[in-house]
Amino acid sequence: ETPLVEVKGLQKSFSIKKGWFGANKYLRAVDGISFAINKGETFSLVGESGCGKSTTGRLVTRLLKPNGGEVWFDGQNIGALSDNQMRPVRKHMQMVFQDPYASLNPRMKVKDLVAEPLLIHTKLSPQERDKLARELLETVGLSSFHAERYAHEFSGGQRQRIGIARALSVRPSLIVADEPVSALDVSIQSQVLNLLQDLQEEYGLTYLFISHDLSVVEHISDRIGVMYLGTLVETADKDTLYDRPLHPYTQALLSSVPVPDPNQKKERIILKGDLPSPVDPPTGCRFHTRCPACMEVCKLKEPVFREVEPGHQVACHLYDEEIMKNEK
Ligand code: SF4
Ligand code: MG
Repeated sequence: ETPLVEVKGLQKSFSIKKGWFGANKYLRAVDGISFAINKGETFSLVGESGCGKSTTGRLVTRLLKPNGGEVWFDGQNIGALSDNQMRPVRKHMQMVFQDPYASLNPRMKVKDLVAEPLLIHTKLSPQERDKLARELLETVGLSSFHAERYAHEFSGGQRQRIGIARALSVRPSLIVADEPVSALDVSIQSQVLNLLQDLQEEYGLTYLFISHDLSVVEHISDRIGVMYLGTLVETADKDTLYDRPLHPYTQALLSSVPVPDPNQKKERIILKGDLPSPVDPPTGCRFHTRCPACMEVCKLKEPVFREVEPGHQVACHLYDEEIMKNEK
């Protein structure tokens, strides 16, 4: 079966001017990443802020246009579509954003917020939209009784439910959820994550889930991709990634995820230095300035992102036999 989403060598840079007379510089936000998301699965992109994961989400839904590479959606290369041709496709991909406060218009009634995508993408009558909006509120665990109220009257968790109802309204096949629970209290986080999982089962949704926090994505993910400075450094199915992380960056991220069993001692790997700027990324392996396992070759040669076991890809010289032969 063809994947619902296929991203090939995707690239996006933003030009930034440095000072009055400074030359244009380029921030390489996403620098040649490839991954696929199968129908009905949850693929999570994880990494520190500024690693390019949100930009990737916006490229997949074409809120942003790439500078290079391809995005395939349901067997169609959407990079080749005009804005007009893109309209019917866009209906099938909706986004849920981090901050339900910022992404919901406070002057709109909840029922109109939820029904807004229906106004854009369908020919339903106002009465039909209204009815559907009320049903959707019930679907996400809010009483339809709230339909006439305004978003600012709700708590953060409720607002995120409203955002989810809105995304669901047009029956998308893909939902890109960009840090959907990061602004919420931990107790509310799990409620919203459970809701997303229930909705996935009920509607056969596919998720691209974006988070800076590996402990948040553990339960919801089928597969995970770890990003660092605009590149993917490791992808694997969830269990493999948590049990046998290969990339030193993934290992460091995982070492700070709390374990449920306090007797199970885990050594925390503290990364040295700060996150380098994506305007001037380090030579060779971009992680070499902070990597506890850095070798000479890492400063010079960029590791190739490749499969080391079925379904498990990593970009690190430690898993390249040719290079390791020379290192010894
Ligand atoms: Fe560390 Fe080298 Fe692997 Fe990069 S290639 S992650 S610097 S060991
Ligand atoms: Mg799932």
